[in-house]
Amino acid sequence: MTLIGDLVEILGPDRVLSEPLERYLYGTDGGVARGEVIVVVLPETASEVSDVVIAAKRHGSPIVPRGAGTGLAGGAAPAVPSVVVSLTNMKNIEIDLGNRTAWVGPGVINLDLSKLTRSSGFHFAPDPSSQSACTIGGNVANNSGGPHCLAEGTTTSHVLAVEIVTADGEIVLLGGPAPDPIGLDLRSVVVGSEGLLGIITRTLVKLTPNPLDVRTILAGFATMEDAVATSSGIVARGVVPAALEIMDQKMTRAVENFVGAGFPTDAAAILLAEVAGHPAAVEAEARLVEQVANENHVTSLRVAADGVERAKLWLGRKSAFGAVAQLAPDYYLHDTVVPRTQLVATMQKIYEIAERHDVLMLNVFHAGDGNLHPLVAFDASVEGQLDIVHAAMEEVARVCIEAGGALSGEHGIGLEKRDLMPLLYNEADLDAQARLREAFDPDGLFNPQKVLPAGSRCADLGRPLPTGAWL
Ligand SMILES: Cc1cc2nc3c(=O)[nH]c(=O)nc-3n(C[C@H](O)[C@H](O)[C@H](O)COP(=O)(O)OP(=O)(O)OC[C@H]3O[C@@H](n4cnc5c(N)ncnc54)[C@H](O)[C@@H]3O)c2cc1C
Repeated sequence: MTLIGDLVEILGPDRVLSEPLERYLYGTDGGVARGEVIVVVLPETASEVSDVVIAAKRHGSPIVPRGAGTGLAGGAAPAVPSVVVSLTNMKNIEIDLGNRTAWVGPGVINLDLSKLTRSSGFHFAPDPSSQSACTIGGNVANNSGGPHCLAEGTTTSHVLAVEIVTADGEIVLLGGPAPDPIGLDLRSVVVGSEGLLGIITRTLVKLTPNPLDVRTILAGFATMEDAVATSSGIVARGVVPAALEIMDQKMTRAVENFVGAGFPTDAAAILLAEVAGHPAAVEAEARLVEQVANENHVTSLRVAADGVERAKLWLGRKSAFGAVAQLAPDYYLHDTVVPRTQLVATMQKIYEIAERHDVLMLNVFHAGDGNLHPLVAFDASVEGQLDIVHAAMEEVARVCIEAGGALSGEHGIGLEKRDLMPLLYNEADLDAQARLREAFDPDGLFNPQKVLPAGSRCADLGRPLPTGAWL
């Protein structure tokens, strides 16, 4: 029997997509890489995922696990012709308010979980700006963050257990409801493993109580330096707000034009700070935010009057990448991280790089944890443009690493930053990571050629690269 014949036998014809257009649509994600899809399958249970893995392995076919395809690092774009396992049909949710947890299928959309639990007084804390589309499976695979992860931590802080299907087709539970399950903490190894170690089929997540009070403060500054100094100054005074987000003027103007969030477009940079918790603490922390902003020459300051205004401000922040579509058909970004103390110097270097390469760069970032998102808006149909963008962004990555930073704060490495890994890791580090991968998946079945560069000890060498990948 053929591979597709086997898959149809497991799932039926409606959940096996092999038409050219269907395969094309699943060949990319939110990034710029595109690869070849052999067939797309839509399992609904862990047992079906297991049968699919066993069939693909028998036919020697690599597998790319996929959520909503909103990833920005090419993680869900096949690097070699692959079976794409789309988990979006696995949307089961079992809420346990007594334990403040929920078992969720990998296809559950992030925001849907919070919508479902909100009236009971809870939410799922990681809130990527893509939360109305991205899946919990993708969040766990990428250890995703979001504006409100500054105080609450990224996805890994909210996962108690993960069920995975291994490369042998075994269904395994890692972690458990207890805070400290017995044995090695393999749950933490799988969170953030970008689909390399197994296919996530269920996750036990923590539910976070909704804060009693929230204050959202929008501050405008005449310089990026003042905005960054305010953000660092707040943390230096011992307050870790729920969120501390900065946007430069180009991004603010694009967002205003797009959704009209009420951002001051004359400011060189804006800071969106949110404090949340007990009303007495919120009052004191909001006063401190205002005080630090004043010390750093704030030019405008507004506190959201109610939930409607607050929602509008966050709509503005979370629409930032979408707003860029008004400027150019494509965008490319790295989510590098630098120590907070290096933010000003690094931002200056990043703007210089953009100027030297003559690219249109906009900035929006999680200032509280130094997680930058320098974004270049461009037109990939113009010959040579993508190469220029790649060259500029490699320089950006180098500058951030030299500043003592990291390659990714939340979007992952995928294909896009795979070949930059040696900037951060030496041969021994890469070999250790490759050996860990081999322990889970000796044949390199899952997401081959991702994350670890050729020569890390991968078995993936010598296969063709997908369109858009850059070496
Ligand atoms: C407009 C926009 C805003 C964004 N904002 C943020 C942000 O604020 N913070 C942030 O962290 N990210 C952000 N992202 C990136 C992206 O949304 C996140 O990485 C998200 O978690 C990806 O989820 P997904 O369901 O789309 O996964 P996909 O893109 O489908 O997959 C991502 C990776 O996870 C793997 N994977 C997916 N599902 C599984 C599974 N069940 N088992 C094993 N592996 C799996 C894939 O192989 C791939 O490597 C943004 C993206 C966009 C387009």
